[in-house]
Amino acid sequence: MTKHDKAVIGIDLGGTSIKFGLVSAEGNILAKVSRPSNASQGPDAVIEQIKSGVHELLKDDVRVKGIGIGAPGIVNAKKGIVENPPNLPGWGKICVSKILEKEFDKKIFVENDANAAAIGEMVFGAGKDLTSFLMVTLGTGVGGGIVIKKKIFRGDSGAAGEFGHMTIDFNGPKCNCGSRGCIEAYLGINYLTQHVASDLGRHSSSKIFELIDYNLDNLTPLIISKAAKAGDEYAISVITDAGTKLGYAISSVCNLLDITSIIVGGGVAGFGQLLFDSAKASAKERVLKSLRDKITILPAKLSNEAGILGASSLVVYND
Ligand SMILES: [Zn+2]
Repeated sequence: MTKHDKAVIGIDLGGTSIKFGLVSAEGNILAKVSRPSNASQGPDAVIEQIKSGVHELLKDDVRVKGIGIGAPGIVNAKKGIVENPPNLPGWGKICVSKILEKEFDKKIFVENDANAAAIGEMVFGAGKDLTSFLMVTLGTGVGGGIVIKKKIFRGDSGAAGEFGHMTIDFNGPKCNCGSRGCIEAYLGINYLTQHVASDLGRHSSSKIFELIDYNLDNLTPLIISKAAKAGDEYAISVITDAGTKLGYAISSVCNLLDITSIIVGGGVAGFGQLLFDSAKASAKERVLKSLRDKITILPAKLSNEAGILGASSLVVYND
């Protein structure tokens, strides 16, 4: 007898670890495994780890409809090629779908991880009832995915949706991409915590000091969130400011695309209502009048499992 005929496998390929989930057609995780990426040993080692995780989920006669993979960096979704993903050195261009099709004889779908997160929200999450939306992921980087009329918009080369590198100040702080004032250069976790760390000295009464044990290395978005919830004025201003900047970038997207529903996920989204309220206020302030009352900013639903569920949703979406 076979099990889970309608289930799918989702793979979240990262530089440190690879997470695998066996997921039902409704988006419930039935089993999970993970493997270290072994990235420093080169691409063949990473591919072996991918195969090993999938084999483990497929043991005991489990059968699945297909396998979806969310990968960082540039992905040619049509051809299933993952190109020079950051944090996976020496990778070059690898047709992951061909390799896995040969190994497992299943349909394989590969997508950039930010697009996979957007498709995940469309299939299983907060975007289920939306026709068009922008998905923003606030993590180490700031990712974006554009869904237009229930289809992911990839652009000519698959690079569309780089919301994180929209400039909100052309003289702003330098971003990793080489540009200045990108929204990622304010809201990316490392940029945000570095900014707070260098600013904290001027706010000596902030509760953050106690929460980080007077060690700046312990500073995380969660700590800032905790301090804000405890009424810390400086922490509240950090979150409000982050939300305001996010709203400015969102307003440009709304004006450009006439998309007014925005789903926000990722670690920094844990700032919660304060972030969402200030983002909505500044987006409304800057967007064209005709769109003003339509702007909706929603928290992502897939949260902690966004990687696995986003990857799994690729099979359902492409089916
Ligand atoms: Zn940038």
